[in-house]
Amino acid sequence: MEYRTLGRTGLVVSKLGYGGSPLGNEFGDADPLEGERAVHCAIDLGINYFDVAPYYGRTLAETRLGAALAGRRDKVILATKCGRYDVNEFDFSAARIRASIDESLRRLRTDYLDVFLAHDIEFVTGKEIVEEAIPTMRALQREGKTRFIGISGLQLNMLRRKVDVVLSYCRYNLLITDLDDLLTPFVKDNGVGLINASPLHMGILTATGPSPWHPAPTQVKETGRAIIELCEKRGVRASDLALQFAFAHPYVSTTLAGMPAVEQVRQNVAAASKPVDEALLAEVLDLIAPYKNRSWPTGLPENQDAS
Ligand code: NAD
Repeated sequence: MEYRTLGRTGLVVSKLGYGGSPLGNEFGDADPLEGERAVHCAIDLGINYFDVAPYYGRTLAETRLGAALAGRRDKVILATKCGRYDVNEFDFSAARIRASIDESLRRLRTDYLDVFLAHDIEFVTGKEIVEEAIPTMRALQREGKTRFIGISGLQLNMLRRKVDVVLSYCRYNLLITDLDDLLTPFVKDNGVGLINASPLHMGILTATGPSPWHPAPTQVKETGRAIIELCEKRGVRASDLALQFAFAHPYVSTTLAGMPAVEQVRQNVAAASKPVDEALLAEVLDLIAPYKNRSWPTGLPENQDAS
């Protein structure tokens, strides 16, 4: 496993990180015992960055990850979030953030976080994030409850803030690379750590395909299916190609993949140390070209990236 430094935090993170949302059944029912084995396997194979949120499975993912990490907390860099609690329930007030971190720490069975992120910030105003959420999170950092703080979301312009860590998802993978147009230059210039989530475009770049709730435009889903078929013809796992593409990003420190099963952890870790099939990658990028960089709206109208 290769390790990279996360911005100016000094945290040294594995280039493949563990995404905890499937532990909360966000991609269908996940076997809790298999999830626990997947977490242990990830640690054994050198993954040290673990991401979760109270929103995933409405606290279920944190509870499961906390149980799986019992006795292993010191081996991982642990991140959770605040502010999003249900599909349409957001609260970035100081009181809720303070209660939220204590609840998360209890579920995660620890007394500190390494990274604490405001979750999906495009659903509220920039003012709420800048004037209330970030100052509260900085206070919690000073109090020792978290080592670093940051923000996450889909809309990239909202993420241009001088925090310690920014998590972007579904904006840098085989299907889309506009992260580099809208966010990478800012975070790089300001030494902000950059985490790239959803290298499989939340399931589109897997043989199983996306869940029914997936918000991507139909053409993007169809393009994903075409990539899977082309990769199958060439005898290459599409998830391997997708992960290798994401790992090659020059500034992202860790790429987070959701891995509720041991076999997925094994496959994805193995992909991290294999060279990419350049000829197939070129073919796939050609195939995607007409439908590249198509995202979807989330959050308040004023927070949308210009398309
Ligand atoms: P992803 O692109 O990692 O896809 C996850 C899906 O791919 C799951 O169904 C998983 O079972 C499947 N998968 C993984 N490896 C596979 C393999 N080798 N073969 C077949 N299928 C495989 O999407 P994600 O889980 O949404 O993103 C990763 C993590 O990033 C999340 O779990 C979460 O922790 C984080 N995230 C954060 C935000 C946010 O903060 N707003 C948003 C999205 C994701």
